[in-house]
Amino acid sequence: EPPSPEAVSQALHDVFGFPGFRGVQDQVVGRVLQGQSTLAVMPTGAGKSLTYQLPAVLLPGTCVVVSPLIALMHDQLRSATANGIRAATLTSADENRGETMDRFRAGELDLLYVAPERASQPHFRELLSQSRIALFAIDEAHCVSEWGHDFRPDYRLLKPLLDMFPQVPRLALTATADHHTRTDILAQLGIAEDGLIVAGFDRPNIRYTIRPRDNAMRQLKAVLDENPGPGIIYAPTRARVEQLAESLASATGRRVLPYHAGLPPEVRARNQAAFVASEDMVMVATVAFGMGIDKPDVRFVAHAGIPKSIEGYYQETGRAGRDGDPSVAVMFWGADDFARARQRLSEVDPQRQQNERQRLESLAGLVETADCRRAVLLRHFGEEPSARCGNCDNCLEPADVIDATTIAQKLLSA
Ligand code: ADP
Ligand code: MG
Repeated sequence: EPPSPEAVSQALHDVFGFPGFRGVQDQVVGRVLQGQSTLAVMPTGAGKSLTYQLPAVLLPGTCVVVSPLIALMHDQLRSATANGIRAATLTSADENRGETMDRFRAGELDLLYVAPERASQPHFRELLSQSRIALFAIDEAHCVSEWGHDFRPDYRLLKPLLDMFPQVPRLALTATADHHTRTDILAQLGIAEDGLIVAGFDRPNIRYTIRPRDNAMRQLKAVLDENPGPGIIYAPTRARVEQLAESLASATGRRVLPYHAGLPPEVRARNQAAFVASEDMVMVATVAFGMGIDKPDVRFVAHAGIPKSIEGYYQETGRAGRDGDPSVAVMFWGADDFARARQRLSEVDPQRQQNERQRLESLAGLVETADCRRAVLLRHFGEEPSARCGNCDNCLEPADVIDATTIAQKLLSA
């Protein structure tokens, strides 16, 4: 018997402090509470966590959450615990694993966060079979697909594990999945096709601008001068991150810090915490930065080079304006970006080449279009947008794009 609608809205209010559901949350939660496996595709900031945390509170047994990063798990753990939810992580970094396993077996946990590589460990399988599982939630589920932009081989180990518990519903969650990736996630996680729920992708408060790069420093400085609020600049390499952070700090007098996987963990943690707390800081980062960071007031996201794909672009720019206030996304692309990406294409194994080539072509389409950027983005995710959004460079200054178009065409035909 699923919980009554009254019990659901009471938990929503009492545990999470929300007056109601947002968007498709109620559909997703409704399916999960009825034991139906689901893939929910919801944009960043749409509130995916609630769709498993609420069932975790309401259903008997524990919701086991698969999450790709320890930092992500700890963020989630902190906010769940702050809401009075009984939650724990089970990772190699945790010293209290024995205690956590005891609580899990004793039914004293609502949520248990684990990394995907646990799935192949016999010990973990045994632990699961000794415990009562309410739900499997698979966060960042695009990691299971080679079509996705962030493939993690460990995610492929999940299905055999999930199949050991056929009576437990599965909830896969992702922010960005085009048609191919969605179909693949459903297959890879054994979820029926009618279990797909897709939320609208439009982020109307984000203004998209994509420009050829002539002088990156000057262009980025202008972005910083025009946008005094917190912002993220994505740069392609660690060296470039450090260099831009330093130059922009001295050129603008603003607080600009670097973030990339080559920095010591404590420096990364410190810079991230400073950014989340700040109202005017700029983070120059590689794509290692951003996943799972809950900072609603990011006012701009700038790309100092091209992202890997439209999915990557959408996800990275989607970190701007989660509070719904006006925000900007600016990309400065160069001929060398596309040359390097093509070079990389020739190095990947033939099986994936076609796939990667398509992703690069889609991205080039977004860069070179004279049409509405938002329309191109939304169509990529299967939505049928209106012709012009009025809030991107091509809608606001239509004349400027002709140059960029011819340049991009030359780049891509080589
Ligand atoms: P996602 O994982 O989809 O990017 P999160 O689960 O991190 O998003 O939620 C984003 C923000 O939205 C969080 O600050 C969360 O507290 C808030 N939120 C989620 N659901 C609701 C809701 N129904 N009403 C108000 N705020 C919500
Ligand atoms: Mg999330």
